[in-house]
Amino acid sequence: MRKHAAYVAGEWVDAGIGCNAIIDPASGKAVSGVPAMASRHVDAAVQAARRALARSRWASDARLRADVMLRWAERIERNVDALARQLTLENGKLLSEAQFEIGNQVNVIRFNAGLARALSGHSHSLGPKVMGVVAREPMGVVAVISPWNWPISLLVRDLAPALAAGNAVLSKPASQTAGVSVELLRLLVECDGLPEGVVGMLTGAGGSVGQALVEHPGIDMIAFTGDGSTGKGIARDAAPTVKKVALELGGKSPFVVCADADMDKAVSTLARFIFLTTCGQICTAPSRLLVESSVEKAVCGRLAEAIDGIKVGPGLDPASQMGAITTRGQYEKILGFIELGKKEAVLMAGGEPVAGVDHDQCNFIAPAIFTDVDPQSPLVQEEIFGPVLTVQSFASDEEAVQLANDTPFGLAAGVFTRNLDRAWFLSRGIKAGTVWVNNYNRFYAETEVGGYKESGVGRMAGFDGLHEFTQTKHINFDST
Ligand code: NAD
Repeated sequence: MRKHAAYVAGEWVDAGIGCNAIIDPASGKAVSGVPAMASRHVDAAVQAARRALARSRWASDARLRADVMLRWAERIERNVDALARQLTLENGKLLSEAQFEIGNQVNVIRFNAGLARALSGHSHSLGPKVMGVVAREPMGVVAVISPWNWPISLLVRDLAPALAAGNAVLSKPASQTAGVSVELLRLLVECDGLPEGVVGMLTGAGGSVGQALVEHPGIDMIAFTGDGSTGKGIARDAAPTVKKVALELGGKSPFVVCADADMDKAVSTLARFIFLTTCGQICTAPSRLLVESSVEKAVCGRLAEAIDGIKVGPGLDPASQMGAITTRGQYEKILGFIELGKKEAVLMAGGEPVAGVDHDQCNFIAPAIFTDVDPQSPLVQEEIFGPVLTVQSFASDEEAVQLANDTPFGLAAGVFTRNLDRAWFLSRGIKAGTVWVNNYNRFYAETEVGGYKESGVGRMAGFDGLHEFTQTKHINFDST
């Protein structure tokens, strides 16, 4: 088992702190361990971050920030393979996916390093001798709290713009994937030019370390990605100290297939993102297929073929097409939904236990597809976060929009049609922060993401993602 330290107030610390083991979900064995920090460690990190902002040029020197971030990107680029292997062991995802996840951060960090130097405000001539300058300033000390499913992407998605905007950042990674998160941060804190204390990583439970960050008066903003119920609690607990809170929460995304769509592309894209990618443990997973009635049978037949014989196995095995469910709790939750589906709906394909594995130790689940679902069933209304798809049909585009919007979530959607008018009507009608037309799950550093409805508040990525980590100040010059 590889032991990692946490990074607080410019020092690597583990002495005298208990260890949280990180379990490989494909074998049930402990692969790494991180310090089980407690709320008392948070204060030292906050004080160091505030000192660093007061004494260094970090907040005021965009070129320094850009240079440090470019060095960090270069170091990640040289370490993709080692980090990806560790990510697979901690998360259970396929190695190819882990390599993509780590490698893509190089591009995200470089984009944000450029944005650091492009951050600007505006000015107004407000009278013959009066000028208003509206400057963008950093929030101060930002806590980034992230989940385990795409732990490196979702950490960097907040950390990179927060640093680019001139903040100090204290990160609380998900405990299940904290080892690889610490190693990613190591590549940053060893970069020349980063002032001591500007960055910290506190490992430990959400209910202690995370909660202490949320409540600490020395933290100015919480950027949280995770479950909706956790996010709602964070919004409530951040209120007494009036912190800014950005929330990126769960989803139950509709995937609309019209009769005129390219069926091969629609079916392979859907299968890829609800089953194969991270076993459907993605916030944007297209978990609800809405298919035009006239092609329902044909599409279901193709989907059944697509999942037939999918090889579920360890992420490090090149023969695996689907990896392991990351946590035991999540594994049991998904199995519970599959059992519910067998009672409430029709199991159209899949849903059988994976053969030849030790189910007491390994979290392997095969895909399941349910038809004849009640639109108000938890199968349709709740985020399952696993390889489970429900199928509903629609007779008109108005009905497709109504079904698509009929959950508390609004994170993302897919629309497959060759008809431009239908694509426009559907993508404008669906209440979601992202709508992919004839594609799915394409993320770019340049384009904003975020949730409508209970999927979140605030936007990450792009210019809005950078601005999320700033506040404006109006300075009024009067020489009358
Ligand atoms: P989670 O809410 O259980 O945990 C997320 C993080 O919050 C972890 O680091 C955890 O330790 C911490 N935490 C837990 N309790 C806390 C508390 N009281 N105070 C402060 N921090 C606390 O979520 P998860 O199970 O790790 O992730 C899965 C969820 O994340 C799913 O709902 C998924 O849809 C969502 N998600 C959303 C996005 C998005 O961009 N919208 C992306 C990925 C995942």
